[in-house]
Amino acid sequence: MLKSDTRQTHWRRANPLKYSAHLAVQQALNSGKLIKGLCEVCGAATVDAHHDRYDQPLNVRWLCRRHHVKLHHFGEDMFPIGRGETP
Ligand SMILES: [Zn+2]
Ligand SMILES: [Zn+2]
Repeated sequence: MLKSDTRQTHWRRANPLKYSAHLAVQQALNSGKLIKGLCEVCGAATVDAHHDRYDQPLNVRWLCRRHHVKLHHFGEDMFPIGRGETP
């Protein structure tokens, strides 16, 4: 119980960053500051921005919906515990 609470708290604390990071990407795309790439796995042109680190909002990886979902399915940034770098 306590352990999963800690995880949950950790994840929730990361969420506001996640939202502001996505907002920063949208604004950068609109202003032409950031340009969409191709899916880094399959080269598809319809992509989402994926953040490795939400404290670097414009440091993104481009992934198509399928590979983006796949990455999240493996939990890379659902519980960023392995990285241990979140301030
Ligand atoms: Zn792909
Ligand atoms: Zn993502």
